[in-house]
Amino acid sequence: MKRKGIIGGTGVYDLGYHDGVTDGEMRKDVVDTPYGSVEVEILSLKDKKGEDLEIVFLPRHGKDHSAMPHMINYRANVMAMAMMGVDEIYATCMVGSMRSQFGVGEIVTIKDFLDFTKTRPSTFFEEDEEVKHVDVSHPYCQRLRTAFYQSADANHLRVKGGAVYVCTEGPRFESVAEIRFFQMIGGDVVGMTNVPECILAKELGICYGAVGIVSNWAAGIGTSVQFKALGEKLEESRRKVIQVFVDVFRSETDEEKDCDCADSVMVL
Ligand SMILES: [Zn+2]
Repeated sequence: MKRKGIIGGTGVYDLGYHDGVTDGEMRKDVVDTPYGSVEVEILSLKDKKGEDLEIVFLPRHGKDHSAMPHMINYRANVMAMAMMGVDEIYATCMVGSMRSQFGVGEIVTIKDFLDFTKTRPSTFFEEDEEVKHVDVSHPYCQRLRTAFYQSADANHLRVKGGAVYVCTEGPRFESVAEIRFFQMIGGDVVGMTNVPECILAKELGICYGAVGIVSNWAAGIGTSVQFKALGEKLEESRRKVIQVFVDVFRSETDEEKDCDCADSVMVL
């Protein structure tokens, strides 16, 4: 059984299957990982060749958005995907923009990160194991990024990218001086959740692609935009992004896998 994963960020709490995104069947399950239990939704459908496909979905912040970015159990979430046999994950994230070319409401693929998190557990590699390091030269799977572009194009969805994502600890937003600094060092968009999620996926050899939806301008840039006023536009963007994720998963074949995500861990 082919299993693929989707991690939903803020505003994405289900696969939207009831809005006609897919015609598959949905069931719920709980995965008990060494880091805690994770509730998932599993959508069963057919791929474009008529073979069985399951998409495992979990909302990053929990079903009722109960976990703030610094309190999310990232290890449990990613381990749950691995334990379900998922080999590819797409994730959505809400981002603030630090560049005029990434406007509010737009969709951007993420190509790299700058990590400014502070307190969250950021690895599966712990002391009683052999010494391991993970290569993050390409933290986001290039193959999944290209596939997203192509499928978005076919779905008439405009996508910008790839952006460099600055991950802050949160839950506070950034200061104006911090944003100025992040711009100077090459950041394009800012958020609070992509690290360590993408690293943990790499540690387990899972392909991981992330797509940002710009919800606001970062502090000190442009006019301040109220999240609520944007509600409908953002909702539409989220729905389309999920649609493209599902489309990629339904279209791809095993022969297309030419990335090195599964070989990123180096053991000393
Ligand atoms: Zn990959």
